[in-house]
Amino acid sequence: MSEKPVLRFAPSPTGMLHIGGARTALFNWLYARHTGGTFLLRIEDTDRERSTPEAVDAILNGMTWMGLDWDGDATYQFARAPRHREVAEKLLAEGKAYRCYATAEELTAMREEQKVAGKPMRYDGRWRDKQAGLAEEGKPSVVRLKARQTGETIVHDVVLGDVQFENTQLDDMVLLRSDGTPTYMLAVVVDDADMGVTHVIRGTDHLNNAARQLQLIEAMGAAIPIYGHLPLINGPDGAKLSKRHGALAVEAYRDMGYLPETMRNYLLRLGWSHGDDEIIPTAQAIEWFNFDSIGKSAARMDYKKLDNLNGHYFRETAGTTMVAEVTAFLAREKRTLTMTARQRLEMAMPSLKERAKTLVELIQGAEFLFTDGPRTLDAAADKLLTPEARAVLATALRALDATDWTGPALEAAARAHAEATGVKLGQVAQPLRAALTGKASSPPLFEMLALLGREESLIRLRAYVN
Ligand code: GLU
Repeated sequence: MSEKPVLRFAPSPTGMLHIGGARTALFNWLYARHTGGTFLLRIEDTDRERSTPEAVDAILNGMTWMGLDWDGDATYQFARAPRHREVAEKLLAEGKAYRCYATAEELTAMREEQKVAGKPMRYDGRWRDKQAGLAEEGKPSVVRLKARQTGETIVHDVVLGDVQFENTQLDDMVLLRSDGTPTYMLAVVVDDADMGVTHVIRGTDHLNNAARQLQLIEAMGAAIPIYGHLPLINGPDGAKLSKRHGALAVEAYRDMGYLPETMRNYLLRLGWSHGDDEIIPTAQAIEWFNFDSIGKSAARMDYKKLDNLNGHYFRETAGTTMVAEVTAFLAREKRTLTMTARQRLEMAMPSLKERAKTLVELIQGAEFLFTDGPRTLDAAADKLLTPEARAVLATALRALDATDWTGPALEAAARAHAEATGVKLGQVAQPLRAALTGKASSPPLFEMLALLGREESLIRLRAYVN
């Protein structure tokens, strides 16, 4: 075993990468990067019915988007089925596992009886000490682990502390099905052992599995990893996060216009803390991350906090990076920017990123830069362009046209015009803004006029003069 920690994220590709999974991946990744260890990605596609290539793509894309790079190639669990079988056969040969010939009908009857007797329903070990006779020849059988029947199994968990399970509660689990396929429980343990995984950090929904997996690890004589089970993520209302709360998939957050850095910071704080710090950039997180500060209770989604964090990272992120984020976002919507649009976007970015909380919002506010010609007015802009406002616009644009087309000169001209006609600057600026951008709010007006240029600006302004 290597000295450095080996961590892994082991999603089952049965659906999207949801944010609970993304947080698990993040915590594993942070710990690996913090310690200089290894972070592996293992796609647990043993369930052939439920695993899909689309889900594999969603996981790989989601991880890549989140910036959670894994070391080496991703492993696919199903491809290792022969190895899983080999381990089961070895346990069988060593008497640590056994063949069980109970039929489905027999097992159903067994559970019925247990139910009637008010006993917990679990496999009763009927083949544990029995030898197959002639009657069993050619009959289907499963391979079960000969689990310890007395005492306790204790999971030492870095998050939850010691969690104790009575061995009487854990029955002899199936390792190989009657068709020879390995079960998920066997596959996980064999893979972790073969890959030298030192830390198993995953959702708390796997805590019960840990006790059974421990018994298997012991039977195999493999090294016991350090466990950490992360509490659930709840919706804003405190109930278990579900479809009803919307936005479960990481992709959805990408499409709502959050930055990967925002998501890393947000998901980190969802279950991990460093004093009262809310803003923890990834580099800092790598330096600070530990298991001690993982919360024991369920975390709660807070979309307002997410928005505020995103606004923060917009302001912190360089303009060129933000332009790249916007172009990537538009590309996913199959939109491309013309050269002119891109230049305008670059110039306006310092103002645009100050006023938006998501890329969607930012792009909406930048649409007036992307195409030429008169604007379609949104409801607020339409309301602003009253007949009186249009009359102001008519005279104002003549005043602007008479000056140098630079921000400061345009502003001075508009001020002078407002003074000369006895109105406030806003009464001149608002109609100009509405006609120029199609909206009632925008980045600084005179900057935008200068940025769009005299010709393009006048075309837009004239379109709303009666
Ligand atoms: N494949 C399991 C899941 O997606 C995780 C197994 C593990 O982390 O041990 O829930």
